[in-house]
Amino acid sequence: MSNLIADRGLRPLELPGGDHTAIGVASAISPDERESLADLLRALPGVSNVVHVSRPYKLASREFHAASTLVRLGDIVIGGNALTVMAGPCAIESRDQLLEAAHAVKASGAAVLRGGAFKPRTSPYSFQGLQKDGLKLLRDIGRETGLATVTEVIDPHDVDLVAAHADMLQIGARNMQNYSLLVAAGRSRKPVLLKRGPSATIDEFLFAAEYILHEGNDQIVLCERGVLPLDRTYTRNTLDVSAVPVLKEITHLPVIVDPSHATGHAHYVPAAALAAIAAGADGLIVEVHPDPRHALSDGQQSLTPAAFDALMDAVARVADAVDRRADWAATG
Ligand code: PEP
Ligand code: MN
Repeated sequence: MSNLIADRGLRPLELPGGDHTAIGVASAISPDERESLADLLRALPGVSNVVHVSRPYKLASREFHAASTLVRLGDIVIGGNALTVMAGPCAIESRDQLLEAAHAVKASGAAVLRGGAFKPRTSPYSFQGLQKDGLKLLRDIGRETGLATVTEVIDPHDVDLVAAHADMLQIGARNMQNYSLLVAAGRSRKPVLLKRGPSATIDEFLFAAEYILHEGNDQIVLCERGVLPLDRTYTRNTLDVSAVPVLKEITHLPVIVDPSHATGHAHYVPAAALAAIAAGADGLIVEVHPDPRHALSDGQQSLTPAAFDALMDAVARVADAVDRRADWAATG
């Protein structure tokens, strides 16, 4: 089938699913050509359905791929019934800091350790992260604690380096439309955590995911992290909680929420996190620091280990109410 598509000078893209493989034709195609190709494909053995995807982002759309995509980090499955929580400091500051955070978030039920090694900071005078040394700490502490790891990559040339040290590449809000970074992350075949830009529409967000999908990488988790607020007096951003059910409807990719950057204040993080789970998010990414007051970045929005532990109990209760599994509560 892919050959028949390629023979016409079009590009077939295969997305394997549970019991069938979706093959996309993500090239510009005239309506006449589309109909004749659809007829030919429909007649092939093994073809159950040919659909015309009306959304402009073809590969990201549920019309193209009806089943929810599961993103796997080793044994961890994101996007199924079970919720996944990623947690850890905004920035990796030292071995002791990351190790303490890792033990704490693991004990409370997080499955993935977050921590920035390359930090995109508004000011060039702010802490830029431990960079390569930070990546090594993340890799080592991930192994020591048995946690999967996610960390941000900000430069396309660093994708291979970051991919060699972490289980998942984070593309941050500021880089959501850095197309060469999206392409490089797609080519890496590593799972990608794609954060929504603070002023990106949902369509722009899905087009960014489309760049990664177009390189043949469907291991993408979307992250809503708050959009530009009307007023920064009380919160850093505004959590677009309604983006969660919208995205769950129009794309097959898993959706998680970052309540830390959405609110900017530790005190508001639990409410935003619980709202996200109630709205249907597949998980959370939360900033947790052993000593938030002395954090080198985002301390004001970082939870203490104790506050994170209480949040995880509350998340499990909301999960139960919306028929989602919170496996940490079952075992802990
Ligand atoms: C972060 O996760 O620390 C971060 C910088 O997030 P965002 O890209 O959403 O601002
Ligand atoms: Mn941060």
